Amino acid sequence: MYDVVIIGAGIIGTSIARELSKYKLKVAVVEQSNDVAQGATKANSAIVHGGYAEAHSKLKGRLCYQGRKQYQKLDDELHFGFDPIGSLVLAFDEDQKEELQKLLENGKLNGLDDISIIDHDEIMKLEPQVNPDVKYALYCEGAGITSPYEMAIAMMENAIHNGVELFLECPVIGINATEDGFDVLCDKERVLPTKYVVNCAGINSAFVSELAGDDSFTITPRSGQYLLMVRGTGELINNVLFQMPTKMGKGILVTPTYHGNLLLGPDAINEEEASRDTHEERLFRIFKEALLTTDKLNIKQFIRSFTGVRAVSSTDDFIIEESKVVPGFINCAGIQSPGLTSSPAIAQMVVNEILPKAGLKLEENPDFDPNRKPTIERKILEPMGEAMKKVELPLSDPNCYVCRCEQVSRATIDDAMDRGIPVTTFDGIKRRTRAGMGWCQGTFCRARVAAVMSEKLGYEINPGFDIEHSGINRVGKTDVVKYVEEHLKEEADQ
Ligand SMILES: Cc1cc2nc3c(=O)[nH]c(=O)nc-3n(C[C@H](O)[C@H](O)[C@H](O)COP(=O)(O)OP(=O)(O)OC[C@H]3O[C@@H](n4cnc5c(N)ncnc54)[C@H](O)[C@@H]3O)c2cc1C
Repeated sequence: MYDVVIIGAGIIGTSIARELSKYKLKVAVVEQSNDVAQGATKANSAIVHGGYAEAHSKLKGRLCYQGRKQYQKLDDELHFGFDPIGSLVLAFDEDQKEELQKLLENGKLNGLDDISIIDHDEIMKLEPQVNPDVKYALYCEGAGITSPYEMAIAMMENAIHNGVELFLECPVIGINATEDGFDVLCDKERVLPTKYVVNCAGINSAFVSELAGDDSFTITPRSGQYLLMVRGTGELINNVLFQMPTKMGKGILVTPTYHGNLLLGPDAINEEEASRDTHEERLFRIFKEALLTTDKLNIKQFIRSFTGVRAVSSTDDFIIEESKVVPGFINCAGIQSPGLTSSPAIAQMVVNEILPKAGLKLEENPDFDPNRKPTIERKILEPMGEAMKKVELPLSDPNCYVCRCEQVSRATIDDAMDRGIPVTTFDGIKRRTRAGMGWCQGTFCRARVAAVMSEKLGYEINPGFDIEHSGINRVGKTDVVKYVEEHLKEEADQ
């Protein structure tokens, strides 16, 4: 019998799993996909938000800064990547300055002590490439960037190291009340008996809650699309640059990613059904809006589009509580932005407050080890001439660069596969090592990575599995570049 079964291995489920592994408990995480971090956690802006944007009256407003404050320590222990580069919300007129003032006041209510409104000259010193029409900005010094899927992978690896079990490809299809808790039914005919269930199923969290008998909320999928530019382009700017927030979200941002790309987006559209397709015209609108932040953007540097889907709850807030109708069943639902930033605080709230109040006894695990070594470090790429010597080594050589663009060695791939989470697809290796994330987007290394994986696993890996099974209709690189160039010209000619 498990003490706790967590449904969903996004950043919320994996953070709770790691927090629970500090105690002597039998814990399982059940995930429907073939890897962790396959939902909103792999497709978002990757910002560790300041904590001023969401109202203090909302849980998401109160938890954001509480989460942000823990990132440095977590990164020191788990090495997933965090850089507090700072953020600016840009204002181009006096009306917008009033909005900044409201954000500042709200931020202070939320406990922030590192925000201020700065003027044109100060902005230009921080960001020489920003649109010079900018008049004011809300500056948050401690906001930053992270690598969300690496963070969830790190959380789960460390939780497994400390005794948590992970079941992948196990979609939960039923939750039955028993005398001492629940039977969690997965479609692999696996039944997990448990005292408590924590529902972290993202956009499926209302469905999972209904399985347990609680239909008190609904979830609306809200999509947001992005343009990602090639590694190195992130050097254009120094901070996360936001435009003014809207009712639907924080507006279009321009930001460096943790590994040095430039990221533009997201837009925000409520959907009937969650889709991760991308669309030329939406990407064009995003690019055009981002040009207001800086006109130094170059669409020719574009390498990939993607869509993230926010889980917007009917309460328009995080729902983090024991169900009022199903005792022992805890919902972590509607975790839209800033859920990534808040995740450390959400995990603590569930483990230190909600579960004990529901009756779970916490006894410290004296063997808990908070540390996890990194799979990859942030790195400056070697000159291509040097790198090519390693590319040409046999694939069996640990120093061989299996991926040319991102210079990922065989040893790194071997290491990524030996950390407790089964890695069975090219994309799984990609998220852990960056193989396939460079300019050629895997054209060169996909088959090479699959060959290495096949050798290690002892069975044939299909290099195209993720593409064939993603169900995503993604606009190609050349098509996006052409569409954006043509439409920019068309609008300029009008
Ligand atoms: C466009 C966008 C931009 C964002 N930007 C930011 C940002 O910059 N900063 C920030 O702090 N937050 C941001 N967020 C919010 C953040 O990404 C989310 O709050 C966070 O990732 C939610 O994590 P989660 O674990 O709740 O959900 P998910 O990551 O979606 O995980 C849910 C998991 O549950 C699994 N699951 C679902 N149903 C079942 C089932 N029946 N059985 C088993 N498993 C199941 C799914 O496969 C998935 O792995 C953004 C979100 C989006 C979409």
